[in-house]
Amino acid sequence: MKHPETHTEVPAATRTGRSSAGIGLFATAPIKKGALIIEYTGERITVDEADQRGGQYLFQVTDTLTIDGRGRENKARYINHSCRGNAEAEHLEDGDRIFIRAKRAIKEGEEITYHYGKEFFETYIKPKGCRCVKCTEVKK
Ligand SMILES: [Zn+2]
Repeated sequence: MKHPETHTEVPAATRTGRSSAGIGLFATAPIKKGALIIEYTGERITVDEADQRGGQYLFQVTDTLTIDGRGRENKARYINHSCRGNAEAEHLEDGDRIFIRAKRAIKEGEEITYHYGKEFFETYIKPKGCRCVKCTEVKK
């Protein structure tokens, strides 16, 4: 499968660090709107296998394909959920890869976040209470 655009793009400069939700991923240089931040990498498994394995780093790509991003080399797994994130996961229609892109311009030092999706939110985040900036602002 070819993704000419993403093949030539250089991922953004990022580092892991402490965030309000544990460990997070932060920009170490400004990132332009629409720019590639990082690829969500990992083992390709079936959705059925993913259901058996469980875990919080499963990223469902299509109806049948899931990426298990638990490996430490997958830095994208450190990106926290936010209901008002500055990044988004790009699903390519014919693709089997997930690219995280900047939804707006991101400043140096800013934490990178994206919305994990309605299903993940309802299942894993909502029961514990969402700790993202948007949700904690509302409660104050
Ligand atoms: Zn939230």
